[in-house]
This record gives sequence, structure tokens and C-alpha cells, in this order.
Amino acid sequence: MSNGVLFVISAPSGCGKTSLVKALIKKIDHLCVSVSHTTRAPRLGEVQGENYFFVSKDEFNKIKNNNGFIESAQVFDNDYGSAKQLVQNLLNNDSDVILEIDWQGFRQIKQTFNHSVGIFILPPSQAVLKKRLTDRGQDKQSIIGRRMHDADNEMQHFNEFDYLIINDNFDVALNNLSIIVQAERLTLAQQSIKHKDLLKTLI
Ligand code: 5GP
Repeated sequence: MSNGVLFVISAPSGCGKTSLVKALIKKIDHLCVSVSHTTRAPRLGEVQGENYFFVSKDEFNKIKNNNGFIESAQVFDNDYGSAKQLVQNLLNNDSDVILEIDWQGFRQIKQTFNHSVGIFILPPSQAVLKKRLTDRGQDKQSIIGRRMHDADNEMQHFNEFDYLIINDNFDVALNNLSIIVQAERLTLAQQSIKHKDLLKTLI
């Protein structure tokens, strides 16, 4: 693996994670997001290869059995996974990489990678979370109920992460995310790798 930083961003659905990540990679250079594989059906407007690689259960299992995922998990009855080759290519491309995955995935990443940075996003209240899930209008009422229940479970795991962001105001949350990325790029470990030639001449 290269020297890029691997960020894992998790949140229950309805916390604005995807919009925040989209805005973050626009705002910061050399930062990209890895597209996951899933067996879930595409939602209206979702694009193959852009939002997800939508694959059949058979295709998913084939990749999994060939050890092709750096992490994978079942969420809301569907399978999700981050392709090893894809993440490796992005990290080798002088880029820091974001995985937008759930807490189960982060647990696996922590075991595989020496260094990864976990960021958890929470909503400002239960009421706001419910409103955001309902307003999204992409899912049926029964699915929204299930997602609220799953969101409660997901939120139990916030304390396994390194950073916590409350997404009350989009711009504030985006700024907080951006500060975390910049700070992680400035750690002694990262700077020592990035500036190793300079350090040799100075010290
Ligand atoms: P959605 O179906 O709403 O896009 O995503 C449902 C959940 O699956 C979200 O919590 C999302 O973070 C998680 N997820 C998406 N891709 C992956 C992945 O590759 N691995 C894991 N572990 N979770 C994922």
C-alpha cells in the first residue's frame, strides 16, 4: 500500500454523509472516494460505477471468495464491500482515500491497515434524523421505519471512531471534516514520509 491516508466515514443513513463527502472531495485536492460494490438495487438517479458498482449476489460472492474485498458487510439485508484493487490503485495515485462504509467495515479496516482514520457523523437529534429520512423520498414508508431502527443500532458504535461530527449545519460539518483531513495530513508520521528528502538535507 502507498502512503496515502485512508479515511473511513460512517453515519446512519439520513445524516448527510454522502453530500458531505461529495462536497469535501470538491473542496480538497488529492482526496477521492472509493466506490463500493453492493447487491442492493439502484435507487432512482443512482448511476452504475458512480454511486456504487451494482452487482448480483453471485458476482459479489465471487469477488469475496477471491479475497477481493478489503472489507465487506451485510447492511439492511444487502451486501456491501470495498474492492481491494480499487482502493490500492487510488492510494497509489498520490491520493488520500475515503471509504464511506459502516462500522462493521471500519472494524475490519482497523485490523488490516496500520493506520486509518475513522470519522463518525451523528444527526443533531432523533427528530431531525427522522425528517431527513422521510424527506429524502427515495424509500417506501416501511423501509424508512426499518432505516430508523437500523440508524439507532448504527449510532451505538460512534465511540469506536477517532473523530465525531454532529451534522446540524452542513457548512460547519463540512468545515470540520476538512479540518480533520488537513490535520491528519500534518501528523509527524505523514509529514516525515512526504518530506523525507528535505528532512535528510536539514537534519
Ligand atoms: P445505502 O444503501 O443507503 O447507500 O448504504 C447503506 C449503508 O451501507 C450505509 O451505512 C453505508 O455506509 C454502508 N456501506 C456502503 N458501502 C459500504 C461498503 O463498501 N462496506 C460497508 N461495510 N458498508 C458500506
